[in-house]
This record gives sequence, C-alpha cells and structure tokens, in this order.
Amino acid sequence: MITIRTYFFPETLEAAYEKLTERKNNAVIGGGAYLKLGSKAIGTAVDLSKLGLEYINEEETFFEIGAMTTFSKMMLNEGLNKHFTNLFQQSIEDIVGMQLKNMVTVGATIYSRYGFSDFLTALLVTDTKVKLFKAGWVSLEEFLEQGPAERDILEKIRIEKRKGFYNFQELRGSSSDYSIINLALAKEGEEYRVAVGARPTRAKLALNTMEFLQNQELTNENVKKAGDILSGELAFGTNVRGSKEYRQSMAKVLLKKALQEVSKDEN
Ligand SMILES: Cc1cc2nc3c(=O)[nH]c(=O)nc-3n(C[C@H](O)[C@H](O)[C@H](O)COP(=O)(O)OP(=O)(O)OC[C@H]3O[C@@H](n4cnc5c(N)ncnc54)[C@H](O)[C@@H]3O)c2cc1C
Repeated sequence: MITIRTYFFPETLEAAYEKLTERKNNAVIGGGAYLKLGSKAIGTAVDLSKLGLEYINEEETFFEIGAMTTFSKMMLNEGLNKHFTNLFQQSIEDIVGMQLKNMVTVGATIYSRYGFSDFLTALLVTDTKVKLFKAGWVSLEEFLEQGPAERDILEKIRIEKRKGFYNFQELRGSSSDYSIINLALAKEGEEYRVAVGARPTRAKLALNTMEFLQNQELTNENVKKAGDILSGELAFGTNVRGSKEYRQSMAKVLLKKALQEVSKDEN
C-alpha cells in the first residue's frame, strides 16, 4: 500500500517541479494507477490534474498530446485512429478494462519507460518527441534509451503526421496480464519501422530488420529472412511469462502478421 503525507495541486509546472525536487520522497501523480500497486512512502504527492495537461490537439503536420491524457482518450480519438490506421487503439484496447484506461496517463507511461508497455511499442514506430519541463524536447527513441538526465516532469508529446500504414500485434496470456511480447510496424512509403517490446525489456527499434525490409518485395522468403534478422538483432530474455526462445520465435510470427495486415490495408 502506498502512503502519502500531503497532497499538492500545483497551478503551474514551475510550482510542480519545485515541489517535486524539494525532497527525494516527493512524487508526481499521473493517473495514480501504477503507483497504487506499489508500497512507496510519498512525502508530497504532486498531482498534475489541474494543470490543463489533458488534451489531444491535431495540427496540420502533427498531434500534440498532454501528459495527463488518458489511454481511453488516446484509444478513441478519431484523428489519431484515422491518421495512424488504428495503431494506438490496437495497442490499448486489450489492456485490462475501461476503468483502468480512464485513469492511466500517457505522461506517466512514457516517463516510466516500462518494459511491459504495449503503448510505448506502438508509439516508437511513429516520429515522436517528448517535452520534459526541465530538459526540453528529446526524441522518444533517445528518451527510452537514456531516460531523464535528472528528475523531471513530462509535459507533452508531439507526434509528426507521416503518411503511412501502421499495425500493432501482441501475444498475451489473458487481458489481466501483461503481454508476453509485442510488436509494432509502420510502413511509410518504402520505409519500414519495426519496434518490439516486452522482450521482456523495454521497446526498441529493430534497425537491421527495418533496413532489410526497405524496398523489398514481401515474398515468403523475404518475410522469413526479416523474421530471422529480427530475432537475431534484439535481445530477448526469460521471465515468468515466457522464455527467451519462445519470445524469439513469437516475434517472427508477430512480424509476419503485422506485415500481412499492413499489406492488406495498403491494397
Ligand atoms: C493493473 C494494471 C495493469 C496494467 N496492464 C498493462 C498492460 O497490459 N499493458 C500496458 O501497456 N500497460 C499496463 N499497465 C500500465 C498502464 O498502462 C500505465 O502505463 C501505468 O499505469 C502508468 O500510468 P499511471 O497514470 O497510472 O501512472 P502513475 O501511477 O500516476 O505514475 C507512475 C510513475 O510515473 C511518474 N509520473 C506520472 N506522471 C508523470 C509525469 N507527467 N512526468 C514525470 N513522471 C510522472 C510517477 O511519479 C510514478 O513514478 C497496467 C497498469 C495497471 C495498474
């Protein structure tokens, strides 16, 4: 069970940051769903819910999304679904139930860089930048690799609109458990982006697979080759949900399915 000594509703991000960095045991509260699973003793809980950070703004060339935007808002947003051929819907819909999706937030998910995350895998195949209050803009890829240089608050993200076809695949034992492995694919013109998450470590782009697929005819042989490259280039591991070998072979299956779905959408 978590304990919270005091609760603070900042009116500006500056005030939130100041309070957060005042003491080591102060913590930002997003949706609060994940924090509640733990046993942290929080000094001051810095609640971001009154900062107007729950929004999805569609501009001509990008979407800007506030840190407090919930998964249900992401899943049901028409502009996002249309532009990214339901990528976010596919990556969110199987996560537990609607009550949880109404709570959990985009900012907390990205900032925490969870290895099991489905949403992060999907987001990684888009051109996304993350805005941290202190450190400023950084690419999602870099943020996932390196994390924040110092304690920070994720304010918003920007997803560039690129014309393409997108697909998300996952292998899950049940809706109340995390994915055993997940994969997202983007095809923008002749370029592909492939990300694999829940390996069980955090999502990563499969750069060699992406390069191989570029301008490649999707014959059975080439799809098989792409799967072999994929399973060889990323690190897969073992945990209670599955072994390294199982994840390696399932990643190939998910890639094949995603390629099939994207080709179907394209034609
Ligand atoms: C029961 C349960 C099952 C789940 N199953 C899945 C699943 O199958 N697949 C999946 O992808 N995800 C799953 N999740 C994770 C979920 O999707 C969210 O990623 C997670 O709950 C974090 O969101 P939150 O808003 O609850 O974070 P919180 O609990 O509010 O915060 C989590 C951490 O992030 C920090 N934080 C919050 N907001 C910010 C911010 N803006 N800037 C900086 N730091 C911040 C907090 O201080 C805390 O350390 C599950 C979560 C729960 C509780």
